[in-house]
Amino acid sequence: MNQVDVTIIGGGPCGLFAAFYAGLRGMSARIIDSLPELGGQLTALYPEKYVYDVAGFPKVLAKDLAKGFIEQGLQFGAELVLEDTASELVRVGEGYEIRTLAGKMLPTKTLVISAGAGAFQPTKIGIPREDEFHESGVYYGVRDKSRFKGKRLAIVGGGDSAFDWCMNLEDIAGSISLIHRRDVFRAHEESVSKVKNSSVNMKLWYAVKELHGNGVLSGVTLEHTQTKETERLDCDAVIVNIGFKSSLGPIKTWGLEIEKNQIRVNQNYETNLPGVFAIGDVCTFPGKLKLIATGAGEAATAVCFAKTMIDPAAKLFPGHSSEMDLGAPDPAHSTE
Ligand SMILES: Cc1cc2nc3c(=O)[nH]c(=O)nc-3n(C[C@H](O)[C@H](O)[C@H](O)COP(=O)(O)OP(=O)(O)OC[C@H]3O[C@@H](n4cnc5c(N)ncnc54)[C@H](O)[C@@H]3O)c2cc1C
Repeated sequence: MNQVDVTIIGGGPCGLFAAFYAGLRGMSARIIDSLPELGGQLTALYPEKYVYDVAGFPKVLAKDLAKGFIEQGLQFGAELVLEDTASELVRVGEGYEIRTLAGKMLPTKTLVISAGAGAFQPTKIGIPREDEFHESGVYYGVRDKSRFKGKRLAIVGGGDSAFDWCMNLEDIAGSISLIHRRDVFRAHEESVSKVKNSSVNMKLWYAVKELHGNGVLSGVTLEHTQTKETERLDCDAVIVNIGFKSSLGPIKTWGLEIEKNQIRVNQNYETNLPGVFAIGDVCTFPGKLKLIATGAGEAATAVCFAKTMIDPAAKLFPGHSSEMDLGAPDPAHSTE
């Protein structure tokens, strides 16, 4: 892989804003995230909640905010390495090589760690053959809706993500069964009532116990969580939405100064390793606030310092974006 100016570990709001700032400063960037979707906690943990404390947005749904961060962050063509975890950091010359769990070796001049609480991994159901069917019948996220066109889906979970996917896929799926262990839900009431009034077959008090198929999934065995009676459900795909686990894991072994599971930084968001910055929820310093609003500022500052490391002649101050030609003029504000 090519060497980039900055590698961003973590595609949450702070990492995405760092990618935007890298592009603004003319730097090539690569984002690594262990999840299949960008957006960090906004996408993974609370997509349907309103956020009220992001500057310039009186009220915005977390998933819409994530969409904005993604559009803004990727506009300069940052390279994406998704569903892979940065596991090793090796000093090579003046820069670094990041090694991933999938075996990639990713060279970079500088590094911005925006890893939040650590790499998110979707929680698995924990049944036999689950790994065998991963991506060939068992999915932990939906990257491409068209893959499920006309398919018989079993969506597992009782939270916002499970209900969201029921509503989102109802039009294109052949059929949908929602499998949930109880009859109470963590999802938004409005979504629950929409799904209850849709064509979705609600299988409440059931859990998936077995997967069937030869290379390709053909069905599952469901077990009633109280009576323990089992029944077979024919389906082509199981979409699992039962939460995430996070762990700082391998980052702890990189020789960074760690304080209570966070990386210590100075006022420039530099860590104790040269050219390695940390921002957002993963960093700590006196007066640190774990907020999106402050994390965005940290991203801008860290990237501008990274820029001056790569190019000592560059100014720290990026200039005003309103003075830059970043896209088509907005007719509403045209002076002509
Ligand atoms: C329920 C809830 C409500 C919240 N509401 C608000 C609110 O109203 N306002 C507010 O300001 N904040 C709120 N927050 C906090 C806010 O979401 C976080 O401060 C913010 O997401 C931090 O952004 P981040 O980019 O630092 O990290 P994250 O959003 O945590 O993203 C980190 C990303 O890094 C990835 N990653 C980590 N380690 C690795 C690795 N080794 N390799 C590859 N990828 C890795 C993870 O998979 C993850 O996607 C809320 C949080 C929760 C849980």
